[in-house]
Amino acid sequence: MGIASFWNRARSIGNGTFSQLGDVLFPNVCSYCDVDLDVEVTRRICDACLPRLSESPTHRCPKCAARCAETFQSGECPWCRGRDFRFDGAYALGHYAQNVRDAILRLKHPRQDALATAMARLLIERYAEQWEATEFDLVVPIPMHWFRRAIQGHNGPDLTATLVAKRLGIVDYPRLLVRRRRTRPQAGLTPPQRRDNVHNAFALRNGYRVEGAKVLLIDDILTTGATCSEAARTLKRAGATTVAVAVLGRAQSEV
Ligand SMILES: [Zn+2]
Ligand SMILES: [Zn+2]
Repeated sequence: MGIASFWNRARSIGNGTFSQLGDVLFPNVCSYCDVDLDVEVTRRICDACLPRLSESPTHRCPKCAARCAETFQSGECPWCRGRDFRFDGAYALGHYAQNVRDAILRLKHPRQDALATAMARLLIERYAEQWEATEFDLVVPIPMHWFRRAIQGHNGPDLTATLVAKRLGIVDYPRLLVRRRRTRPQAGLTPPQRRDNVHNAFALRNGYRVEGAKVLLIDDILTTGATCSEAARTLKRAGATTVAVAVLGRAQSEV
């Protein structure tokens, strides 16, 4: 079987087998501020919170999703310059600050499925058309090390990945990437330390294949890009042709 037909077949199998996660009934309140909603507000975010969590379209660098001037050409973005990102593109729902930051921090706690689902849907609403045009084959969440997952109880990006895959009718591989070792939290490390911290941190689980696949990686936050770049490097070494990253929040320091 050729690579293209393999992924087409995987896509058609995927269509029929997704769980119904995301269709469960949540209380009819805004999942961010808890205000009662009218019945017809299906996104579970009130009109006041919508612009707080999903900025109106601003120019973002197509490579790293940094909010930057529209006049920057590819390669001129100050947040990309001098960086050897191994992913080909990035998409972000919002700027990692204020309400977006607060919402993402809440998602680290269990029992936040309503908010996680609402945030994922906002991300999907924003980018689904672009993703369909790219014809991604696979959606893969950035994994946690099993030890940390055991403590936290869930991995935030898993739910987003499942909902994206369901919307695109493609394969969701939540266990495709594994963390080979425990890494230190990236927060508080300098950019070079972050790169060293995640170097060779990922591997493909035995039995999975990505040759010829276009992969959409999912994470909560993109800061220096070190983690997503290392995951993209792992996927490309295994034969993935395109790897892009989608996150809820893009954190960027001023340059
Ligand atoms: Zn609200
Ligand atoms: Zn950039």
